[in-house]
Amino acid sequence: MVQWCKCDERMSNTSCPNDIQYHVYSDRTMDKILENDTVDVLDLSGIYDYEVWLCPKCKRLYIFEPFVRGEDKPVKYIYKLESET
Ligand SMILES: [Zn+2]
Repeated sequence: MVQWCKCDERMSNTSCPNDIQYHVYSDRTMDKILENDTVDVLDLSGIYDYEVWLCPKCKRLYIFEPFVRGEDKPVKYIYKLESET
């Protein structure tokens, strides 16, 4: 999948692993994962709450619609970097 950033950077998750795509788990989801004591690593890749892409150039974050998987998932939020320390 390819996503163009507002800064004109081309982002892609076609290479695996990559530094563009992140999977975010809420504390509630992580708690459920930990309750199971042992979780198959492959299961982890499918139960995240949000998929987030980080633009390596401008550091914008693209947060996709939660719980939607696949190539056509819509972007729900876009965050622009406010400060960097
Ligand atoms: Zn960018």
